[in-house]
Amino acid sequence: MALSGLEIYKHLPKTNCKECGLATCLAFAMKVAAGQAALDECPPLSDEAKAALGEASAPPQQLVKIGAGDKTIELGQETVLFRHEERFHHPTAVAVRVSDELDNAAVEARCQEVAGLKFERVGTTTMVDMAAVYNDSGSAERFAEVAQVASKVSGKTLALVSSQAESLRAAGQVLAAERPLLWALDGSAEDGQAIEAAKELSLPLCLEATGFDGIVALAEKAREAGLKELMLSPGKVDGAAAIEFLTQSRRAAIMKKFRPLGYPIAMQVLADDPLQAVVEACWYVLKYAGLVVVDLARPEHILGILCARQDIYTNPQVPVQVEPGVHVIGEPGPDAPVLVTTNFALSYYSVESEVEASRMPGYILSIDTEGTSVLTAWAADKLTDETIAQALANSGLESKVGHKKLVLPGLVAVLSAGVKEESGWDVQVGPKEASGIVSFLKTQWKP
Ligand code: SF4
Repeated sequence: MALSGLEIYKHLPKTNCKECGLATCLAFAMKVAAGQAALDECPPLSDEAKAALGEASAPPQQLVKIGAGDKTIELGQETVLFRHEERFHHPTAVAVRVSDELDNAAVEARCQEVAGLKFERVGTTTMVDMAAVYNDSGSAERFAEVAQVASKVSGKTLALVSSQAESLRAAGQVLAAERPLLWALDGSAEDGQAIEAAKELSLPLCLEATGFDGIVALAEKAREAGLKELMLSPGKVDGAAAIEFLTQSRRAAIMKKFRPLGYPIAMQVLADDPLQAVVEACWYVLKYAGLVVVDLARPEHILGILCARQDIYTNPQVPVQVEPGVHVIGEPGPDAPVLVTTNFALSYYSVESEVEASRMPGYILSIDTEGTSVLTAWAADKLTDETIAQALANSGLESKVGHKKLVLPGLVAVLSAGVKEESGWDVQVGPKEASGIVSFLKTQWKP
């Protein structure tokens, strides 16, 4: 039976030393009770206390760390089936396939593509996380050689994927300091050699088998051998079978606390057609995969997958916000327009992209509405003539432009008179939708 936070707290050192990253032992106990932290994260915890708390306090899904230093990727330790119940914690790692059958120039070219798969979206940087090196050649020597090149050129954390324990060991050994994921394909971990290699090298291991019975048997075997950082893969499945596997394993881990399936899942996208492959990868990201390997490296394909990931792993309880205040677009002169919006990220970036598209440099004054959109903020009295006038007074814009005229969102035209009275600035009512900004600036804006 699950333990309460107070029951766990009784066994903690109660020194509030903060080594776990939390301010107090009580906060840590509450996180453990919620399945969001593991006892291992409290270094001073005694073996007796660990034994007393045991499995009952373990998170339903194991946290797995791949990579080293600032390239460490954390996967798993999810606590809910549906994002609206709380949030998803550790975003799916996206990996691009690199075959060791490619010649050296092609390996380098592929890895350079992987390094460049990085995008700015809604004010954050999103990118491919890993290169997955496949031992298609069957040669341990070639596999280790390509893995080293992939690590150096892509700069990414690696998954080393092979059905031969000898190859996994050879490549894992030369890159052990970088903590790659070893991935034993096609039930090859059955003979225990890949498990031995992962244990000796202290590396995380992905176990692959067909069907739940095979995977559970492998997971039990690895656990008995003392391996904790495991991932599971259902092998070459796609479509409904893949979604069924992902859903059933997540249900078993979270709702039934079935330990052998309490590990993040690694999926390989099988579709040959690039657009079908993007769709398949997005399904896996949205339906619980911890790691998705794609054989795609074009930006227009990867961006869709990364957008799906960013959306599902955004905390639904916290509005996505930008910094309130003045944002400068281009190099505005004294006649540049000043447009008002809120600090809700989607509102702000819609306005920003339209101002950029107009090719008219300007200023955007984003009002602190605690991340709510224009109409919501107005209805909640967060976007008022006073808050706009106050933001304007604090902005320093008066000394930057040679006019005193604001562009107010058309949805809150009703605030025009009040803003003018409170701020002393003239108000020009802009379009109701951001999509009208380009035409508005070109045909109606007058300083
Ligand atoms: Fe308390 Fe352990 Fe966290 Fe220190 S590391 S604050 S002892 S829970």
